[in-house]
Amino acid sequence: MLFSFSVSGAEKMCTYSTYKWNTISRKAVDFKTVQHPYSDLQSFEIDEQTGCTVCEEDQVVIQIGDLPAFKVCKHFAFDIENTLNQLWSDNQPVNKIVAYRVGMTRGEVDEQGNRTGFSNHSFGIALDINDEQNGLYDQCITFNENCRLRKGGKWSPDQFGSLTPDSEIVKAFKSIGLKWGGEIAGKQKDFMHFSPTGY
Ligand SMILES: [Zn+2]
Repeated sequence: MLFSFSVSGAEKMCTYSTYKWNTISRKAVDFKTVQHPYSDLQSFEIDEQTGCTVCEEDQVVIQIGDLPAFKVCKHFAFDIENTLNQLWSDNQPVNKIVAYRVGMTRGEVDEQGNRTGFSNHSFGIALDINDEQNGLYDQCITFNENCRLRKGGKWSPDQFGSLTPDSEIVKAFKSIGLKWGGEIAGKQKDFMHFSPTGY
């Protein structure tokens, strides 16, 4: 912040649009835009591990091939852009990318049934690739026909655009330190999803 001491009234701000996931109605509720001085950031607005925040001001726009632009946290932008440009020039099947998107979809539930924690997408540290061929499943310790599809389209290892442990796309993201949601422990498998923790 080169000018922070010389320009009066130009205090750095933090701006974001958010919502809460209601676990009872299974709908997004409480849409709002938040803005406050950057210096007032609260711990729940910062990802401790990466230092990335929910603020638009900390996101970088990336555009790959002829796909719509998306945003990621500035700390990951260089690696993610290089990786995706390489995959695109290698004709790997990257059809759709969703990254920064702020919303409380995790963590404890309040009295109204609303989630109270920000997802990793909220900090710009998670990417969804080809959601239509890489669904999010629950009741899915290991993948089988009884896993329950909750979001996106059906995953099938032989399908064009679906990701597997052997996919160049999965290998490339792992090489820059991201984990794949198709390989996380627990009941959930999120085949479209990459982040530092896989969640
Ligand atoms: Zn995701």
